[in-house]
Amino acid sequence: MSPARHPDPNRDRAPLLESWKAARRRTLGNDAESLFAALDGPRTTSVRLNPAKRSPPLGPPVPWCATGHYLEHRPRFTLDPVFHAGQYYVQEASAMMLGQAVGATGFVGQNILALDLCAAPGGKSTHLLDLLGPGSLVVCNELDHRRLRSLQQNLWKWGTGRSMVTSASSGRIASLLDHFDLVLVDAPCSGEGLMRRDDEARRQWTPDLVRACSATQRTLLADAWACLRPGGALIYATCTFAPEEDEYQLQWAIAHLGAEPVQIMHDPAWGAVEQGHGLLCLPHRLQGEGAYFGVLRKPGSLAGRSIPEGPTCIHTLDGETHLIKAHHRVLLDEIHASIPARSMGTPLFTAGDRIPHPAAALDPHAMQIMISDQGASRSELDHDAALRYLRGEALRDRDARGWTVMTFNDLGLGWAKGVAGRWNNHYPAAWRIRMHPRDD
Ligand code: SAM
Repeated sequence: MSPARHPDPNRDRAPLLESWKAARRRTLGNDAESLFAALDGPRTTSVRLNPAKRSPPLGPPVPWCATGHYLEHRPRFTLDPVFHAGQYYVQEASAMMLGQAVGATGFVGQNILALDLCAAPGGKSTHLLDLLGPGSLVVCNELDHRRLRSLQQNLWKWGTGRSMVTSASSGRIASLLDHFDLVLVDAPCSGEGLMRRDDEARRQWTPDLVRACSATQRTLLADAWACLRPGGALIYATCTFAPEEDEYQLQWAIAHLGAEPVQIMHDPAWGAVEQGHGLLCLPHRLQGEGAYFGVLRKPGSLAGRSIPEGPTCIHTLDGETHLIKAHHRVLLDEIHASIPARSMGTPLFTAGDRIPHPAAALDPHAMQIMISDQGASRSELDHDAALRYLRGEALRDRDARGWTVMTFNDLGLGWAKGVAGRWNNHYPAAWRIRMHPRDD
């Protein structure tokens, strides 16, 4: 079954700029016209399933990602309770090529310390968490404070408890010299690969934008390199077709940082093409948007640290109780001493009181602990009640008492407190559904 391409609702989209088309005719040659046609065509929708929150396959598989699926129709994700429970992440398919890049590093299934330097809103962080071993810790950094909230929410929804969130400049992170086994630089870029779905990406393009992005990317690469352990690997990614931001950046890292290129394996039938030392995804050649991936190795040996797998433990940060992997404590404290953590693991209670934290409903292990050790109950909701809960309504129940975790299809959604024959809603106000089923 081949994935249906959805008719594009946005028929009056901004035209592709002639200056941009001229630039791509120069760099892509014969491919350019097919690319322009694809960018004016309909796009596909895809999701990546959360392996920790079992779910049936939703549609035809994304060939290069075991957990990726195309959808025949674009549903209203907002009105799907399991979307809020973190059963899947809506992510365009080319971004899922990250799996092949991590494959090239040899770290799939390994317990390592990783950094996602430009992490919000968390698409690649959540994927990385699934690809690495269950003992791994992923530090998810985002410089832009406005984007931290969505990063945090998506990590909590993913429910692994194996991440730490920071918000520091790359220069500050570079002070953690030779620290991480793997660094992902999903760099801010000119966004040409988003031109099919995003008019702003079409309008904003100028050669100056490419130059400015390229300069920022070089700083990010150099800083990422500094905090990478000898023997470790750096994954560089963009969502643009500009060679100045893609293969030239890898060449620069090879020439100036001493990086060694690593080939990313791929099946030519998938449609990605090798460009310089990396892999380029072009929307007219595969079912996905534009993206570029490269992998670089830092010369040296990774001997010395091995992260074991172990039990969870309680850790306190600024008065907030967190569930973390016991063997992450030293790593977290070490990083926190240089770069303050915004959060770590899965918070169990909100600061200063004994109110269950929303994240503790979304992490299956934390939810179990809240039920077995903290006396919380669990209330399974049907579809209609789940949507009413997610809108922030109180739900009537004669027997409501104490704290309960509201679940749908056995997946935690959030907390409610039983008072006088009803469940008072503790789903965070900022997360509530504001859309009504009849809204268009
Ligand atoms: N990795 C994310 C994902 O998969 O969901 C997408 C990351 S997006 C391509 C690039 C991110 O880099 C943005 O969130 C942006 O705020 C951040 N950023 C922008 N300028 C930066 C800088 N100078 N240093 C670090 N991050 C920056």
